[in-house]
Amino acid sequence: MRPLRFAIIGAGMAGILSAIKLTGAGFTDFTIYEKGERVGGTWRENTYPGLSCDVPSQLYCYSFAPNPEWSHVFSPGEEIRTYFEDVARDFGVDTSIRFDDEVITCEFYDGRWHLETHAGHRDEVDVVIAATGVLHRPKFGDIDGIDTFDGAWFHSARWDHSVKLDGARVGIIGTGSTAVQITSALVKRVAELTLFQRTAQWIMPQTNPSFTDAQKEQFRAHPEQLEQMHDSLSVLFGGFAKAVVDAQSPEIQMIEAACRSNLEENVADAVLRERLRPDYRAACKRLIISPDFYDAIQQPNAELVTSGIERVESGGVRTADGTLHEFDVLVLATGFEVDAFMRPMKVVGRDGRTLNEEWAARPNAYLSISIPDFPNFFMLNGPNGPVGNFSLIEVAELQFSYILQLIELLKSGENREVCATRIAMDTFEAERVEAARKTIWTTGCSSWYLDDRGVPAVWPWLFERFQSEMASPKLESYDVA
Ligand code: NAP
Repeated sequence: MRPLRFAIIGAGMAGILSAIKLTGAGFTDFTIYEKGERVGGTWRENTYPGLSCDVPSQLYCYSFAPNPEWSHVFSPGEEIRTYFEDVARDFGVDTSIRFDDEVITCEFYDGRWHLETHAGHRDEVDVVIAATGVLHRPKFGDIDGIDTFDGAWFHSARWDHSVKLDGARVGIIGTGSTAVQITSALVKRVAELTLFQRTAQWIMPQTNPSFTDAQKEQFRAHPEQLEQMHDSLSVLFGGFAKAVVDAQSPEIQMIEAACRSNLEENVADAVLRERLRPDYRAACKRLIISPDFYDAIQQPNAELVTSGIERVESGGVRTADGTLHEFDVLVLATGFEVDAFMRPMKVVGRDGRTLNEEWAARPNAYLSISIPDFPNFFMLNGPNGPVGNFSLIEVAELQFSYILQLIELLKSGENREVCATRIAMDTFEAERVEAARKTIWTTGCSSWYLDDRGVPAVWPWLFERFQSEMASPKLESYDVA
């Protein structure tokens, strides 16, 4: 038996999962490196008002740690962050985390990975699990003059809670899931709310009831009911996956009809309705789910601005029609750098090949997990994975059980290195690009799903295919040395 040491990078949902699963498989020699000061990944980075998850809570939790205490069908972000913290503690992996210790280099030589952190700490491990997440490097949108603004301004993922919002004039730039949640949460608190819309969005209506004490009591007494809910919600999400990967499917037509009715029935003013009407198909961009966005944007203190942003000035935002929109606070809900993954960390594989060289065209990996010439380096929620169609927790659980089977190859000591072959990655990528053409994401919109070629950087098949691929590695796709 070969004793294996692991580095897990990131203490978010996927990093905590990895540590728990490694422990369960008898691998106890690992360290989790975390750049932030606490557990939670995206749920630590994002603390904006209105933050919640639009995946139902009974599905957005680990299958092995169901939670009877969720407050809502779609629970708030802080509750989700606390859940991950609690699970990390309950499973005893919290003590293996090095907080505020970002890995800056990760280099493979002499058969092992050599890590160095920002704090100067060094480590040498056999296996690296990159659980760094996708949406964690804010994108500021290159807005001219933003530094000249006299009021407070910040990105939605860097919310400044010291800034007073009650009674303030607030501008929000962007109309993604984040901006929509912020708009709904803030409109009743602020004096004036202005939403700068570059692209209109389809909104899927969805109520968010709370769980009663009696329901929670029932869940506590009957954990099997939570498991059943998890499984039936997973099947329901499989239906959503079916919709988005086939632009002609009846399921996508149902989603489109629901979004259209939401707009027709819930926006009273015909002019505003047309300004809010997208000119592309629903779910082409990441579908937005909201019970109350249309209500919020129709409040008397809310304004939708569709004239383009020319620049930011000391007093506010100047739009192309010449208007100066004056604010006390400006929020950039402008999204994330989606092709960073574990970068800017410097990753160097076999023979000095860097990840930046490997990904010079764009990020790529076999099954989104393994990169040729980067042996014993495995990613969770890596490039071209199912970020757009399933619960990422379920995805990460399936990915980790697959990775664990690759790790088992190393355990005996017979094999020292495992990574995907280039031919396996290239074949997979060619097939993926072909399938991606049939998806809803290519039907005529711009979105963060699309890469520089306009190809969705997303898993383009059904959930069943993902489950079946993740069931066990095809060893012929791997270079096992
Ligand atoms: P996003 O979807 O990338 O949206 C960014 C928004 O900013 C877009 O409306 C974009 O307009 C706009 N924008 C960017 N630069 C701009 C500029 N220079 N001028 C004007 N507008 C500009 O980002 P996000 O809303 O933060 O959401 C990112 C992802 O996070 C979501 O797609 C989702 O996967 C995840 N998320 C999930 C939840 C959840 O409940 N599970 C909640 C929030 C976020 P264009 O559309 O014209 O590019």
